[in-house]
Formats: sequence, structure tokens, C-alpha cells
Amino acid sequence: MENLDKTKSSLRLRLIAGEKIFDPVMIIVAHPDDETIGMGGRISCFESLTLVHATNGAPNEPTEIRKSGFDSAEAYSSARFSELDQALRITGAKPLGCLRYDYPDGELVLHLVELTERLQVQLHGVRAVITHAYEGGHPDHDACAFAVQYATRRLTESGIEPPRRMEFTSYFSLKERLHAGSFWPDKHNPGYVARLTRDQRRRKTEALKAFKTQQWILKVFGVRREMYRYAPHYDFRSLAPPGAWLYDANGWPITGHDWLRHAGRALDQLESSDPTKSPTTRDYKSFDALR
Ligand SMILES: [Zn+2]
Repeated sequence: MENLDKTKSSLRLRLIAGEKIFDPVMIIVAHPDDETIGMGGRISCFESLTLVHATNGAPNEPTEIRKSGFDSAEAYSSARFSELDQALRITGAKPLGCLRYDYPDGELVLHLVELTERLQVQLHGVRAVITHAYEGGHPDHDACAFAVQYATRRLTESGIEPPRRMEFTSYFSLKERLHAGSFWPDKHNPGYVARLTRDQRRRKTEALKAFKTQQWILKVFGVRREMYRYAPHYDFRSLAPPGAWLYDANGWPITGHDWLRHAGRALDQLESSDPTKSPTTRDYKSFDALR
């Protein structure tokens, strides 16, 4: 056990130092661009990486899609994933596998049980899983934090060693200010800073520019450093730790109140079901959506 813990902690050290990591690692993000925003300077460190996109990156709102200049959700999604491919090439990332779950952008919280069960299957044998923090910044990011916490918990309850949960940064609101590229402060759980070299900064800047449909991100996110930390245990029946919902402030269709209601229902369902009777890969058709 001690040796295993050493290996796990050295994965964190290697990540911060920007060294190669050979352990099987899974990065789970909500949207194509989150991996570059949060981990663009380090994503090329992984030699055994599976990259999971939980949404197809397109909202279920025809007016929103038209506003972005596309005729259909499929066309918008396809453009976003082409941007992703280009960004990954620029960062030097070489995932062994990419999975896309195809839930609409903004609706992940409606599928928490299914998402958790899928990840439970996929996380077998994975050493570390890196995802968003629960921070009230975006409903889909929070849904990823939920599903990863409960997928790993169900593995433990099934007698299977779960991967270590880690987090990269996205954005959230604290004291009415938008914070990007850092974590909400937790004195018991520090964030570790990974400084990017000049070449890494240049690549990350270019990779972010590849997301032509999401040019706002260039204004919000810096490229000098990234932060990582171990994921704390979250209470998903309560308001996210920063104490505010950025999605309420932005007037998004799903409010913080809605999010908690859906999360509470999913928790009731997960807590009353047998974790050892999880579905197999074959039960989910879109597992075929290996890109
Ligand atoms: Zn996102």
C-alpha cells in the first residue's frame, strides 16, 4: 500500500514538473476546449491517456446554434471536435483513446446516474482521473465532478481499487468576481502550480486559438501556469464551495437550484442501487463512439 501511495504521489510530482507519465490516466472534461484550457501545458506528458468528453459541445437550442453560425447541432459539434483535434496536435497530446458521450452541452446534470455508471466501467485499471472541480462555474463541469466522485466511490464499494481523483482548473465566481485558472481556496487541500516554459506557453496559446467557435476563452484564460490538486470529497446536496452559482449570474437555462435538485435525485438513485451490478460496456451504445 505504501509503495502504491508513493507511486500515486509521484504522479502528481511528475505532472507538476512536466515529466512523462506512463501510468494509465483518464482526463474527463465536459466540453471540447476544457482539456486545453485546464491542461494544455501538461496534456502531452501522458503516455497512456484516455480523454473523455462528456458532451458533444452543442446546446440543445436551435437559436443558440444559429447564433454561432451553424445550421444544426451536428454541424456545430463536428466543428468543435475538429478544433479539438487541431488543438491536441498543437499541444503534442497523443491520447491512446478518445471517448465522446454525446450529451447536449448544458444538460449533463440530467444524466448523472448514467454518466456515473459509464465512468465506473471505464475507470477500471486507471491510476488517476483528472476532472473539473465542483465550483458552481458551469453546470456540466459540476456534473463531471459529481460523476467522477461517485464512479470512484462505487468502484471502492465493489472491492476494486479506484483511481486517485485529481482536478484541473476552469472558472467560478467568488465574492462576485470571476476567477479563472485557479481553485476555490481550500486550506486543507492546496493546489500545486505547474509553470509553463516559453515553448509550452506558445503552444498553449496557439492551441487555444484553434477553438475558433470559442474565441472568448482567449480573453479569460492565461497561459503562464496551470494548477492541479487532489479532489476533495464534495457534498453535492449543498451549494458549491465558492458559495455562488456563476450560472445563475449568467442567466443560463439550468439554475443552481435546478442543479441541486437533479443531483439530489441522482444521489438517491445511486445510493439505493447495488454498485457491483453496474452495467457493462456493451450496455451503452455510445461506448461505440470511440473517436
Ligand atoms: Zn467547459
